[in-house]
Amino acid sequence: MATPKPNAAPLTLAELIAQATGTSVLHCYQCGRCAAGCPQNQPGAMEISPTRVMRLLQLEAAFVDDPARADGFARRALQSPTPWLCLGCQACTTRCPQGVDIAGAMDVLRGQALQRGLAAKDRRSGDIRTFHQQFLAKALRRGRIEELPLILRYKLARGHWRQDAALGPAMLRRGKLKLKNSHSADTRQVLKAIDDLRRSPRGGP
Ligand code: SF4
Ligand code: SF4
Repeated sequence: MATPKPNAAPLTLAELIAQATGTSVLHCYQCGRCAAGCPQNQPGAMEISPTRVMRLLQLEAAFVDDPARADGFARRALQSPTPWLCLGCQACTTRCPQGVDIAGAMDVLRGQALQRGLAAKDRRSGDIRTFHQQFLAKALRRGRIEELPLILRYKLARGHWRQDAALGPAMLRRGKLKLKNSHSADTRQVLKAIDDLRRSPRGGP
């Protein structure tokens, strides 16, 4: 990933997203199709819609000469639960007439929110953030994850021992959870792909 020169202004979120996804949120013309197709954009779920997140990113870029205001818009986007509630389903990205990778933008926002210590503090976002961090830590270190240890670590961290417990037996019966790890995958290829991505100009996780 390109790093800003010393004393250069830090990159805006829109610029970081452009680096990571190759698409620009500045092309968004607020048609609302992303929000209309988003399964998480329901009352009581997302607090601000994907369309509004795109607007906040545009406002940060527009006020880049007024750092205090720009920072306010960036913080509003980064502190929102919306990036954490995003499922990464790509419905928005495939519907966008302007070719904006909204799902990719949400991924960048999650990473930036963690880096800057601004991630949403509500309980649901905290649950998703913990799972996200544990999943990534394991996947990036080992090149694969095992479902059962991942679930146990998550439950230990968040204390939701009984939540979803009733689903366990059915998942085991259907082979969705395995008590024994399989070692068939060549994880070296996965680790090499992650390493290549990190070294690429677009950067990696
Ligand atoms: S679908 Fe694309 S152009 Fe329309 S509001 Fe969403 S990001 Fe903007
Ligand atoms: S990728 Fe995220 S923001 Fe886009 S439609 Fe799916 S849940 Fe909504």
